[in-house]
Amino acid sequence: MTQFQSVKAETGETFGDPIAVNDVSDVAVACQKAQDAFDVYRATTREDRAAFLEDIADQIMAIGDALVDAATSESGLPTARIEGERGRTCGQLRMFAGVVRRGGWQQLRIDPAMPDRSPLPRPDLRLRMVPLGPVAVFGASNFPIAFSTAGGDTASALAAGCPVVVKGHPAHPQTGALVADAIAKAVRNAGLPEGVFQHLVGPSNELGAALVQDPRIAAVGFTGSRAGGLALQSLAQKREVPIPVYAEMSSINPVLLLPHALKDKGAALGTAFVGSLTMGAGQFCTNPGLVLAIEGEGLDAFIDAAQTAVKDAAPQTMLTPNIRDAYGKAVDTLSQCDGVEEIAKGDEGDKTHGGAAVFQTAGDKFLSDKSLQAEMFGSASLIVRCKDEDELVRIIDSLEGQLTATLHMDDADAAIAGRMIPHLERRVGRILANGWPTGVEVGHAMVHGGPYPSTTDARMTSVGSLAIDRYLRPVSYQNIPQDLLPPELRDANAGDGVPRLVDGEPA
Ligand code: NAP
Repeated sequence: MTQFQSVKAETGETFGDPIAVNDVSDVAVACQKAQDAFDVYRATTREDRAAFLEDIADQIMAIGDALVDAATSESGLPTARIEGERGRTCGQLRMFAGVVRRGGWQQLRIDPAMPDRSPLPRPDLRLRMVPLGPVAVFGASNFPIAFSTAGGDTASALAAGCPVVVKGHPAHPQTGALVADAIAKAVRNAGLPEGVFQHLVGPSNELGAALVQDPRIAAVGFTGSRAGGLALQSLAQKREVPIPVYAEMSSINPVLLLPHALKDKGAALGTAFVGSLTMGAGQFCTNPGLVLAIEGEGLDAFIDAAQTAVKDAAPQTMLTPNIRDAYGKAVDTLSQCDGVEEIAKGDEGDKTHGGAAVFQTAGDKFLSDKSLQAEMFGSASLIVRCKDEDELVRIIDSLEGQLTATLHMDDADAAIAGRMIPHLERRVGRILANGWPTGVEVGHAMVHGGPYPSTTDARMTSVGSLAIDRYLRPVSYQNIPQDLLPPELRDANAGDGVPRLVDGEPA
């Protein structure tokens, strides 16, 4: 295939001009350009790199309505959501500009020489973080702007000083091309080599596989399916020089309904739960796909309210026919599972739409059947009725790694919440109280990550300023003469305004 076309999510029909597809042979050319650009780009000053990130945000905003129109048509997501995503993307780029300017990401450390130390003198040691090299980015279908071409992976890699080669998601090629053009414009405005950012297009596993296997690629950022993330990680590990793959994959995001909260506001929680479940047709990595509640007062009110809300929920356009089919199959499989009862199914609509669905099962059934932990990417969820607090703990301990866990609690639930939190810490990347997991704040204290299989590396986050750490590595300089040290590690300029640790103490 040398060309393909966008598909309108709402109708399943193709639209727009044919889009030229990159050949696998283009991968080597792009990676060489990225490699050639690396030394120039990593040598940019903090101020120049920050201004470049801000210009990318300006150029994305300058695309105007054309970007919103393309993204809404290709994804089927509503205009307000896409506008929000655009704002989030630009805010994220500006946040990383601030991070780059402040320079703390360099983690400067100095252990001054101790020539008179006995029995052995201590050498002069100085450390800073440096960028890894060219990064391959695979955008997600469910966030065509904020987790795609200029999303968190691209923004954090560019902030770290790494050139980026994006493998565009085939579900939103027009959106991807518009954003890629905006970034290319910012590259030109900054006088940087074009290899700092490149965009490869095509609906083929071969293209992405070749990118991950190219020896010039130093790391991979990915959001999508577990199968896709693991396939790319396996390729990366089989390379002559293995590289890290930071893949954010599947999560069912347990929501714990603690007894007093359930008793006091079971019905309100049931309605709010379905609001979160159906947001964006449930196509969120943080979708509440699992509800855990102890049998008791308020649980039936929660279920009744959820049932009503699901029946009232209109079918929604799903991102792609494949995602729609996979969702339909997952719901059918759960419907036919012994020991699982359907609480409600909403109107499914036509072949491009999906409806909400909520099921329930008992705690012992959930504990005995691992398949009930499978992600259903869409607005479906399973409520687990636990017989007591101990069973709830056993269920938490049995869970696969998750991005989030939510506690719905009153003051009177503090003791049980205190018992659950240490168990949840071992399973998830973010624990939240009295809210819903959908909606991930972009900030400095955010973790959007978690133990496998929610991601391939539980030490990292793909959202928030800490995401930059994925694309950096430490270098230590031992007894290197002052003039040859990176400027920020020299004695004379006190870190160039960047905080440093001297002998482990802030200086
Ligand atoms: P996907 O199939 O994993 O694709 C994501 C990206 O990876 C695409 O660019 C795809 O491009 C590429 N890719 C996938 N498998 C590959 C392989 N074996 N080798 C090389 N490249 C590969 O994800 P999706 O299309 O966005 O959605 C499919 C399913 O992923 C959903 O039903 C859902 O279960 C899950 N999903 C999860 C999240 C999340 O946030 N956790 C987000 C979105 C989707 P090509 O197909 O062109 O190779």
